[in-house]
Amino acid sequence: MDFQTSAKTQDYLSRIKTFMNEHVFPVEQEILAENHRLNPDGDWTQWRVPEAIKTLKLKAQEQGLWNLFLPDETLGKGLTCLEYAPIAEETGKVIFAPEIFNCNAPDTGNMEVLYHFGSQQQKDKWLTPLLAGEIRSVFGMTEPDVASSDATNMEARIEEDGNELVLNGKKWWTTGLGHPDAKIAIFMGLSNPENDKHSQHAMVIVPLDTPGVEIKRMLTASQDFDAPYGHGEMHFTNVRVPKENLILGMGKGFAIAQGRLGPGRIHHCMRAIGAAERCLELMIKRGMQRVAFGKPIIKLGGNLERVAQARMAIDQARLLTLNAAWKIDNLGVKQAMTEISAIKVVVPNMLQMVSDMAIQIHGGAGVSGDLPLSTFSAMARMLRLADGPDEVHMGMVSRIEINKYR
Ligand SMILES: Cc1cc2nc3c(=O)[nH]c(=O)nc-3n(C[C@H](O)[C@H](O)[C@H](O)COP(=O)(O)OP(=O)(O)OC[C@H]3O[C@@H](n4cnc5c(N)ncnc54)[C@H](O)[C@@H]3O)c2cc1C
Repeated sequence: MDFQTSAKTQDYLSRIKTFMNEHVFPVEQEILAENHRLNPDGDWTQWRVPEAIKTLKLKAQEQGLWNLFLPDETLGKGLTCLEYAPIAEETGKVIFAPEIFNCNAPDTGNMEVLYHFGSQQQKDKWLTPLLAGEIRSVFGMTEPDVASSDATNMEARIEEDGNELVLNGKKWWTTGLGHPDAKIAIFMGLSNPENDKHSQHAMVIVPLDTPGVEIKRMLTASQDFDAPYGHGEMHFTNVRVPKENLILGMGKGFAIAQGRLGPGRIHHCMRAIGAAERCLELMIKRGMQRVAFGKPIIKLGGNLERVAQARMAIDQARLLTLNAAWKIDNLGVKQAMTEISAIKVVVPNMLQMVSDMAIQIHGGAGVSGDLPLSTFSAMARMLRLADGPDEVHMGMVSRIEINKYR
């Protein structure tokens, strides 16, 4: 295994760092305040994207800092998972930065689905505008009425009717649904209940303005609507789409989901490592500069050990993530199931611990909106559920381990 950063990564990383230092960190608080002003809680239909984000998107695109997540040489930047990891880490330091580089979830995962499994017609119609950052997309797998950590529980239906597919069911936690540019959903549902349990589902592209698609509400996550992205509840009632919108084929949903969640998890984890690095940096700077009981706070209580604990935990999580990325690149997603599941558990838990330490050292400021710490803390908590809860991933790791001795 070789985790040495390639010349290509070094080049993009230094350009991303310059961009973040010049254009993102200095205006972070301003953009967050503007976002808050534009998007008051309540009426999500009026949510808007701050102009500054649109301007930064254009600037990033002009500088070629765009679609870095996609391994394709022409459509993306030809970076492998391992090469992209340090770049994702840097963008993870500011909550809205990934969108500036067109590298934000869930669009990246959806673009990967269309790139790997979409027909040429689907690519022309939806992948092209997604790659251009002109439209946004959502992914509908989780359902309110069944335990969705077991995806085989899914009740939403996809049925054939002549040249059309008919969709019925409820989805929730569809991230990005409130975004003013959200135009399509990738809907996963039961298409072939007669097949074996991993060949029963399909994925279909559904334009959000199709009759029968109803957005019931936006959910809050830890009391935050997460505007302008949002997490929606959607109902599908006799929604008809042409068969050309079916991705790959009936019964192929699980095969696609496995491909989607591999690299996508690396992206989430690398961004979370960047968030943890930022927490540690803020924690040290604050601890050294603020004095209590005659000493810098960093020297009080167990704070020095906390700094060491944070450094060790971040580096362990990063190495585990790079290892998973290397395996995905060199052996494929199927051979990296332990590593993917492991980082899905380790990284959010690490961020939860580090962000909590950073909050504590900051006192009241730690939970204020003046700093990103409480946002990262909430993000860590949610990442322990999104893409499947910790327990399901640990179940995967233990199954693979035990099978070695059967
Ligand atoms: C912020 C956020 C964004 C999300 N975005 C999306 C999205 O864009 N699209 C989408 O489709 N979904 C999304 N989700 C949904 C997420 O993937 C699900 O919440 C998750 O898969 C769990 O499903 P569930 O909520 O139905 O929990 P349940 O399946 O009801 O599970 C509840 C709990 O049961 C326990 N449990 C379950 N299985 C096991 C097991 N095998 N062993 C031990 N304990 C177990 C766990 O403690 C688990 O947390 C998002 C969630 C959040 C919080």
